[in-house]
Amino acid sequence: MLFQVRPSAPKEADLTTVYDAVVVGSGAAGGMAAHVLTSRGLKVLLLEAGRKLDIESELKSMEWPYDHPRRGEMPSDSHAVTLNEYTVRQPPYAQGSPYKHVYSYVQGWNGSDYSKNIVVDEKDHPYTGTKYAWVRARNLGGKTAIWGRLALRLSDYDFKAKSRDGYGEDWPISYADIAPYYDKVDLYLGIGGHKESLPHLPDSLFQRSPRLNPSEVLLRQSLKKMNRVLTPYRAGVTTDGLKHNKYRSRCYGRGACNRRAGGCDIHAAFDSPTGLIYPAMDTGNLTLRTNSTAYEVTVDPATGKARGVAFVDTETGQHYEAKGKAIIVAASTLESARLLLLSKSKAHPDGIGNSSGQVGHNFCEHVMGPSILGRVKDLVGKPRTLDDGRPGGFYIPRYRNLDDRQPKFIRGYGFEGSGGTGMVPGRASSTPGFGADFKKTVRDEAGAFIHMGGFGEVLSRYESAVSIDPAVKDRWGIPVLRFDYSFGDNEKQMALDMAATGREMFEAAGIEILASDADLLTEGWSIHELGTARMGSDPKTSVLNQFQQSHDVKNLLVVDGSSHVSASCQNPTWTIMALAWRSCDHLADELGRGNL
Ligand SMILES: Cc1cc2nc3c(=O)[nH]c(=O)nc-3n(C[C@H](O)[C@H](O)[C@H](O)COP(=O)(O)OP(=O)(O)OC[C@H]3O[C@@H](n4cnc5c(N)ncnc54)[C@H](O)[C@@H]3O)c2cc1C
Ligand code: SF4
Repeated sequence: MLFQVRPSAPKEADLTTVYDAVVVGSGAAGGMAAHVLTSRGLKVLLLEAGRKLDIESELKSMEWPYDHPRRGEMPSDSHAVTLNEYTVRQPPYAQGSPYKHVYSYVQGWNGSDYSKNIVVDEKDHPYTGTKYAWVRARNLGGKTAIWGRLALRLSDYDFKAKSRDGYGEDWPISYADIAPYYDKVDLYLGIGGHKESLPHLPDSLFQRSPRLNPSEVLLRQSLKKMNRVLTPYRAGVTTDGLKHNKYRSRCYGRGACNRRAGGCDIHAAFDSPTGLIYPAMDTGNLTLRTNSTAYEVTVDPATGKARGVAFVDTETGQHYEAKGKAIIVAASTLESARLLLLSKSKAHPDGIGNSSGQVGHNFCEHVMGPSILGRVKDLVGKPRTLDDGRPGGFYIPRYRNLDDRQPKFIRGYGFEGSGGTGMVPGRASSTPGFGADFKKTVRDEAGAFIHMGGFGEVLSRYESAVSIDPAVKDRWGIPVLRFDYSFGDNEKQMALDMAATGREMFEAAGIEILASDADLLTEGWSIHELGTARMGSDPKTSVLNQFQQSHDVKNLLVVDGSSHVSASCQNPTWTIMALAWRSCDHLADELGRGNL
């Protein structure tokens, strides 16, 4: 049964009118801005660079591999950039490629044909500079159409990290400021999880938790003795359903989440169109214009304030300007920095909102690579169970530099993982042998494997930066980003510790270690880009105030991950949405008071 309520037809954009707000980008951040502002009665124009995909039929979560002509693989004229290519080459990675279409590594995943309309073709969207595996999605909803759904909160261990270890900057907010907005996000969008009462990973207002399977329970029990926690995946998925949202079903635990980079076709997993944008359209206050790539925030020369957004229609090549009382940039961390830097005027010669010179700097994310695979001997030969009928496996929250002080690195890391039986036995191709014995071994071992990989905080550094490339342009003639960024010693030392403690935890649980890796994956692999327009109290060292409002231009907000002051090690999307909700509430108040 498919749950497919279609949205009302979008209104035509009226470019002669001045909207209350123009929002750029329709992912987690832009979708949230549209939801909050329209529900406060404001007239909003949402500009999205990508297409409005027929997401209701695009995400074929339940299609069997044999129902697809290439078992879900891309056509032979398409190529996904491999780890080796990222390792030995510099961007632009599609340059000189014999393939007609080139995609980021995410398209190399299982069932990639299902997301080829969601991620960008690198041939149209080049970038330059240092190595970086940049995954971009251009469609209504952005990356939320294919995100991994691990939905975590930050705590004061993150917001006040400088006060604890002296590095970087504290955020201009504390957990108490954002907690009510995390609650609103939980209740509006739904999240499944299990309460653990950890000060460094606050609990959400959880719906039914995904279940742990036997290998995961074994590891959880063993970790308790080490004073570490393994908790079921905190999934940005409505496991009990949401009475207020007719576009989303509750999770039926069909297990499709782990099968391909492509979302949930009944929208139990949060995606921005069904979670935020369609309900915003139903208020009658939202106008949506897709295929509209913003390339400049325009300025009123008399006041220096933002006047509107100049954009190109990606299908016709025509240029337009949309006008708003407030401009909300939510194009995702790196694209938002690009847009601010491109928006040069007499009043803002280094890019709008950039009098501090901080736009594009302090870029941070998560380091990945160290991982471990094991086999639980007691589970070999046990009857098969439905273990992948759930939206995710488990999460091991940070345990470093909480009450302890590690000698070689600051900050922390967590592990994501899963164990148990999948629809297709994952290790069959690397199991030796053939014939009946081989098949028996594959079947016997199918439910006994468990694996996990680390996600660690990358420190925010001024010199980690993106800027506008002086020569290279994208398919529409818009100058592209140049990266000047690589991991530092703190990340490398942290990764060594991840690899060591990963082994230590499996050994303590009696899990036989089959493989472990300590190497770092290319910068960008985590798809958690942050920090290029950070918040702060001092306009000289930060771009935005605590309400993600430009210090220089008070009717300009940047509500995505670019505002984050440090990366923490928790996945960022729930925080992006809680902050965007808080800021847009503030903006609606300010507009109401005539303060902009
Ligand atoms: C495979 C995958 C797994 C992930 N797993 C997790 C996870 O488990 N947990 C987690 O917290 N996060 C995860 N993420 C990251 C998560 O998707 C992002 O944090 C989140 O989508 C960021 O929201 P955003 O609105 O800033 O950006 P996006 O979702 O990327 O949306 C930005 C939108 O802006 C549009 N846009 C860009 N430039 C312009 C322009 N110039 N003009 C107009 N529109 C523009 C884009 O087309 C896009 O639609 C994952 C991402 C991927 C791809
Ligand atoms: S397990 Fe749940 S969230 Fe995942 S695809 Fe199935 S219904 Fe959607």
